[in-house]
This record gives sequence, structure tokens and C-alpha cells, in this order.
Amino acid sequence: MAIRRSVERFYLQRGDRYRVVDGRILNRRLEINVAEHCNLSCRACSHLSPVVPKSLVDPAKIYRDLSVLARCYHVKSVRVLGGEPLLHPDLESVIDAIRRSTICDSVWVITNGRLLPRMTTAFWSSIDLVEVSLYPGQHLGAEAQDACRAKAKQHGVALRFHVRDEFQESYSEAGTEDDELVRRIFTTCNVVHRWRCHNVIDGWFYRCPQSHFIAKVLRDGAEHVDGIKIDDDPSFPERLLAFLQSPEMPQACTNCLGTAGRFFPHAQIRRKDFRSRQAVPTQDLVHPRLVGTARLGLARLEAATPRPILDSAENALYSPGLLPIARAAQATGRALVRGIRRAPSPTSNSAPELRHTGLLRR
Ligand code: SF4
Ligand code: SF4
Repeated sequence: MAIRRSVERFYLQRGDRYRVVDGRILNRRLEINVAEHCNLSCRACSHLSPVVPKSLVDPAKIYRDLSVLARCYHVKSVRVLGGEPLLHPDLESVIDAIRRSTICDSVWVITNGRLLPRMTTAFWSSIDLVEVSLYPGQHLGAEAQDACRAKAKQHGVALRFHVRDEFQESYSEAGTEDDELVRRIFTTCNVVHRWRCHNVIDGWFYRCPQSHFIAKVLRDGAEHVDGIKIDDDPSFPERLLAFLQSPEMPQACTNCLGTAGRFFPHAQIRRKDFRSRQAVPTQDLVHPRLVGTARLGLARLEAATPRPILDSAENALYSPGLLPIARAAQATGRALVRGIRRAPSPTSNSAPELRHTGLLRR
């Protein structure tokens, strides 16, 4: 027991490691929630879009924030999402601002696709990749998908459609006082450790979107508690690196399921019912095996593996030549965890977003 506690302390105190090249912290992705509201209302949306107030990113402000950040931070891709990003009335200006900031090599748009057929030539000319989540009963028809494929091809944009027919529970309104469970959820959380879904929101930088949105909805006015303010003080790069490598959990973890929520079939829900469906203790929404000993062991193995090795493996896996193999491996993995997905859920109608839960994430 003493040895196990020591090992766990080691991993808790270690934090994530980041590569710094030419004075810039490197990461694969940065997310910008350009429209926090959404035209769908998915049960357990991990960005809590069905209940966050309507909010749109100002192109001038995001340019200022990203330009300052770009002096010490660089990503392969900025993911433009939300909410539903295509609800932004001046999306082209936002994308232009992101590019001009020089913070990234490419710009991706992640959308539910319902407005995609209406997008203009200026939109298609401004982006590198569009990823469309297809939710049962809510997605584009085959003809509309074909039309989008044609537009994407015409403008040299990569276009991916993904069927999202399963979600995972994303958060609990009731939360938990079980510190050990919260620590397990944090340790196994792919959002923060594996995918590193950093977010810039209203001048603040977050390690994960949930640490902003859960605080915003559950602790009104405390949405910045888990973030770091972006500023141009010379000490900012050092403070940002310390923030990213901190072993401290965001406070939002107390109410978050990370990537350990129970699976359930995708469902739309009335917005006024969204929060009451989550008024269940964390213990009842978490999948025990996803925070179990084997999963913790895998998390520790990843934590102990040098980041360049993990990045190289991911790059190799997602190179065009190996993509079909990656997809086959993903299908096999899904078959292997079918037992997990079929595990009974006490609230089989609840919710977060599956793109945060897949075995392989693009
Ligand atoms: S999961 Fe996506 S499509 Fe569904 S409500 Fe959330 S942001 Fe909208
Ligand atoms: S708040 Fe949620 S997504 Fe963020 S680190 Fe904690 S468990 Fe992971």
C-alpha cells in the first residue's frame, strides 16, 4: 500500500511535460469557441452549450490575444468550434485573425454540419480542414454531404464526416467529495493529458474547455479560476509553462467526468432539462472501469513516455498512408471495449461529446 501511494504521489507531482523550441511551447491543438451557443441541444454536451448564454468571439480581440500568445506558444492546428462555429456571422474574419496571429500551421473547423451547405466561397477558401459530427436524426442528407464534398474538393479542403451515435456522461451537477475518485478522473483524463485540448477564451488560457464551461455554468462568475490571464509581461512565458506543467487539478474536476463517463446513445434534450439531468452524483455517472487499475496504469505509462515518442507515434499513425490502418485499429479497439460500452447506466439518457471520448482522436 505504501509503495502504491508513493508511486501515485510521484505521478501526481510530476505533471505534464511540454517541448519548448525557439522559446515557444509546442502543442498539437488549440481550441477557440467562436460561438459558445449551439443550434443543437445534445444531452451531456461537454461544452455545456445548451445552457451557456449566446456568445460570439470578436475578431479584433482574438487577434490581440493570440498575437500575444504566439510569442511563446505554437500549435499545429487551431480548432474553430463551439457551440456551433458556423453560427458566427463573421467567421471568415475570425479565421483571418487566427491566421494573422501566426499561432498555428493550419485552421480546422469542427461543426455539426447543419449550416455547412450555406457556407460561402470565402469560408471554404479560408480553412484547411472541416470535421463534421453526424448526430442521429440531426445530420445532413446524403445529397447535401456530396455537395459539401464537392465544394471542399474544389477548394482543396480536407473534409471528414464522423458518425457520433454514442456520447459519454460529461459532468455532474452534484459533483463528489470523494477526492480519490476526482484524482482518478483527472489522471485518466485524455482531454488534458493525451489530447491537450487547450482553449483561449475571452483573454484567458485554459488547459481544457471543461475547466472554463463547468465553472461558468455551475459557479457563476468563477469561470477564470482554472485559467491563466494572457498578458505581454516578460514573465508570462515562464508562468504559462508552469501552469501547463502543474500537477494541480483544475477545480472543475470536482464536477467533471473527463473521459471516464458512462456511455449512452446520443440524444437531444430540451434545454431547460439539460442541467436537471445531470443532478446526479459523480459516482453514478462515472464508468468504474475507465478509472480502474488498468486504465490508471495506461495513464501512467503514457505519462512516463517522452512526449516526442508519443507525438511521433501519433503523427505516424495519422499519416495518409497509415490512416486506414489507424481506422481498423480504432474499430478493433471499439470492439474490444464493447463490454464497457454495454455496461448498464443508471441514467441511460444522459451525456458529453463523443469526440472527446474515442480511442483514437483524429
Ligand atoms: S455536442 Fe456539439 S452539436 Fe451537440 S450541443 Fe454540444 S456543441 Fe452542439
Ligand atoms: S476539468 Fe474535466 S476535462 Fe478538465 S482536467 Fe478535469 S477531468 Fe479533465
